[in-house]
Amino acid sequence: MWDVIVVGSGPAGAAAAIAARRVLPRGRVGLVDRAEFPRDKTCGDGVAPHALDVLARLGVRGLLDDWTPVHRLRLAFPGGPELAGEMLRPTYVVPRAVLDARLRAVALGRGAEPLHHRVRTVSRFDDHVVLDGRLEARVVIGADGAYSAVRAAIGQEPPPGRTAIAVRAYVPLGALAKDEQVIALSPDGSAGYPAYAWAFPIGDGRANVGYGELLPASGGTPTRARLLGRLHELLPDVDEPGPFRGHHLPLSTAGTRQPDGRVLLVGDALSLVNPLTGEGIHAAVLSGALAGIAAARAVRGTVADPGRDYRTALRGAYGRHTRHVDLLARLARPRAVAAGLRGVGSRRRVFDDLVDLGLADGPVTASVLGTIGREMASKAVRSVTGRSR
Ligand SMILES: Cc1cc2nc3c(=O)[nH]c(=O)nc-3n(C[C@H](O)[C@H](O)[C@H](O)COP(=O)(O)OP(=O)(O)OC[C@H]3O[C@@H](n4cnc5c(N)ncnc54)[C@H](O)[C@@H]3O)c2cc1C
Repeated sequence: MWDVIVVGSGPAGAAAAIAARRVLPRGRVGLVDRAEFPRDKTCGDGVAPHALDVLARLGVRGLLDDWTPVHRLRLAFPGGPELAGEMLRPTYVVPRAVLDARLRAVALGRGAEPLHHRVRTVSRFDDHVVLDGRLEARVVIGADGAYSAVRAAIGQEPPPGRTAIAVRAYVPLGALAKDEQVIALSPDGSAGYPAYAWAFPIGDGRANVGYGELLPASGGTPTRARLLGRLHELLPDVDEPGPFRGHHLPLSTAGTRQPDGRVLLVGDALSLVNPLTGEGIHAAVLSGALAGIAAARAVRGTVADPGRDYRTALRGAYGRHTRHVDLLARLARPRAVAAGLRGVGSRRRVFDDLVDLGLADGPVTASVLGTIGREMASKAVRSVTGRSR
């Protein structure tokens, strides 16, 4: 009988295993993955400094000290408007083959035990959980990503219209900026929205480039040719065709719910990807850390229901942010986003607040709301009088 089994060894699973072992230094924590590491994960590879803050609180420091930081961010529609500036703290663009292997090595170094296995079934009992009829644990953490078998087994599949799809490739930097994360917003709201292309410099002469959009609620998936066509329209400086890989992003607008009990869902398995920006690594490590602590407390007997304990902790840490970004994502259309960018202009405070909202757990602040509201109001006045307020 394991104390805790974590299914999936991405950022969410590694953080969960590290957190569980901190609370249970002598506990048996298994870290299961179907893949051999290092392994790739289709991603934009953007790592917000806020994710490193969560790791630092788990005692993991210096993970990316050898990596080239990226200081600037540019959000732009083709031909304008745009918003660009230096971020308060730099981000990192780290291929997931590197980031996830490093995090997993930390988890194993802290005493988690690796298990190479593909989980298919989950059986829940009052005081334990059984995976595939043979792996028994007092608590199981499902950190198995966008296509989570654990989530499917406990009946929490996201509803249609709450998942995005994206393609990405590594290309030579060429004419792309080398110290700027570029997000090229689509002016076309006729398909799934938000929709945008990105170019994130890795620091080794290459960039991670890609394009993503919301999948329609009516079903159907855009063809690969269409997604690549949109990428090249929005980022004409990307002259190398690929190879591109695609993957789904389960968005927090899905409202996937953490049930009571001994199976906890974290990261993409709990549909925690930011629906405005597609960022999910910060949510993955934060939810993983909280779930690892709740699982370990249940093993120690200090909480009766780890599912309920974790749900409460996650709501406290992330609830306001999720409500705010979910609302903005439902309202997001190209004209509204363009009005927002115009309104922000050179307002430093609003830019910083938007970075926190897009990359981590920031709420919609009064300054963001005031700026967007003012721009919308002045646009309404212009449309009636032909003059600005
Ligand atoms: C194209 C694209 C671009 C993105 N860009 C960014 C970005 O720039 N920044 C950002 O913050 N986020 C980005 N995201 C989101 C980010 O990739 C995810 O939110 C993040 O990977 C979630 O981490 P995770 O640990 O929950 O899951 P994952 O990283 O997917 O890890 C899941 C692990 O579970 C394992 N697994 C799966 N099924 C099983 C099973 N049945 N049994 C055993 N093991 C299993 C897998 O092998 C994998 O190792 C992007 C996503 C996509 C698709």
